[in-house]
Amino acid sequence: MQHTPDSLWLAILEELDETARDDIYLRQVTPHSLTEESFIIAVPSDYTQDEIEDRFLSDIKKVLGNEINNGCRLKISVDTSLAKIPKLKQTENGSEEDTPETANLNPNYIFKNFVVGQSNRICHATAFAASDDLGGEYNPLFIYGGVGLGKTHLLHAIGNRVQDKAPKRKVLYVTSETFMNEFIESIMYRNSAQGFRTKYRTADLLLIDDIQFLARKEGTQEEFFNTFNDLYMNSNQIVMTSDRSPSMLENLEERLSSRFEWGMVAEIDKPNYELRLSILKRKCEDQDFEDISDEVLSYIAEMVTANIRELEGILIRLTTQATILGERLDIDFARRVLNDTSPLSRRSGQKVITASTIQKIVADHFQLNSDDLTSAKRTKVLVFPRQIAMYLCRELTQLSLLDIAEAFNRQNHRTITYAYEQIEKLLEDKEIKKLVQLLTDELT
Ligand code: ADP
Ligand code: MG
Repeated sequence: MQHTPDSLWLAILEELDETARDDIYLRQVTPHSLTEESFIIAVPSDYTQDEIEDRFLSDIKKVLGNEINNGCRLKISVDTSLAKIPKLKQTENGSEEDTPETANLNPNYIFKNFVVGQSNRICHATAFAASDDLGGEYNPLFIYGGVGLGKTHLLHAIGNRVQDKAPKRKVLYVTSETFMNEFIESIMYRNSAQGFRTKYRTADLLLIDDIQFLARKEGTQEEFFNTFNDLYMNSNQIVMTSDRSPSMLENLEERLSSRFEWGMVAEIDKPNYELRLSILKRKCEDQDFEDISDEVLSYIAEMVTANIRELEGILIRLTTQATILGERLDIDFARRVLNDTSPLSRRSGQKVITASTIQKIVADHFQLNSDDLTSAKRTKVLVFPRQIAMYLCRELTQLSLLDIAEAFNRQNHRTITYAYEQIEKLLEDKEIKKLVQLLTDELT
């Protein structure tokens, strides 16, 4: 296909990971010109250029090779006139208006449908208490634990409850990544710095998810430190979640992480069998899945132990498959779907390979945390292992593309397809083929 600079840039964005497509630096790119030898894109600052080169250059080049030819080189030029101020809406009389703020809450994550058991009792109780007494005894509240155990659910539940009880209270939910991106955006476009401060420092309740990703970068932690102090001094409530305890947050400055312990630190643990079963029963009620026998539910609760997201996923998979195939969802059907359908699990007897097992084995092999694989971070050391893990999920499990996307915290399945194709191409390399075989052996 003949490309114009615009169509080529669009094609490149299409191919990148969807988190990359929303990246604030990539959004500043203006495609400039295209010849046989070079594709020139313009960006508003050196900083943007560095960021793009650091994080996306190799991926962009790959796509460029596929779309045009390998001789065409990417050039990034800095054009400061592109640094316009975005997003400030004009009201009718021409004055600036703040972008309307929303709390960003998911209405499905409420206390009512959070099932309590031994492993999450304390977290649930403190979260509930904090929602009743903002800025009180449990300020700040710090909730930590592994993937898929209900941290995000609880965070939204606090926000939803406060909004229900006191609609005038200002509630704000963000991930630490959004916080960082908005902060960086606010320094780049100086006029929006004030907007950023007002937004965060006037919250009655600030909910920050996955604080472990708050990076030491461009004053982000400094800004969060100041935001934190402001809110805290004014007795506004702060609730944070993380995959590890404050003292284990190596990326964070000590003065920050030590403050996280001032209020209440609560750990959420893996669900035991009893809780897994109650959750399954509750989901069946909520979703009107009738006539699934206790035997089937117990079977699922035994098979899926790692996290609650997976538990939900399996339940939905079973019910959809039963509907599609027009079969009764009885214990035989469940066994067949969970155990015997994949040739691999047949070979390995009872063993079901789950996405989280794959993530763990791959992470261990590359000496990473499993959570790095499911994060949005795009550093080079993570991209390849993550793609390998995605590839193995496609090869070794019965999970749908969407299931796999979810297991990696991705919004849609294109990332997974892309990863699969990348690794398939790389398999021509003997070393990589050996690695994939090794990991497969370990998993089966
Ligand atoms: P985390 O943020 O810890 O990774 P989430 O809060 O996203 O986990 O939970 C994953 C899924 O499991 C969500 O769909 C959530 O609603 C569900 N879930 C987690 N814990 C519970 C619980 N105790 N009761 C009901 N559903 C739960
Ligand atoms: Mg979460």
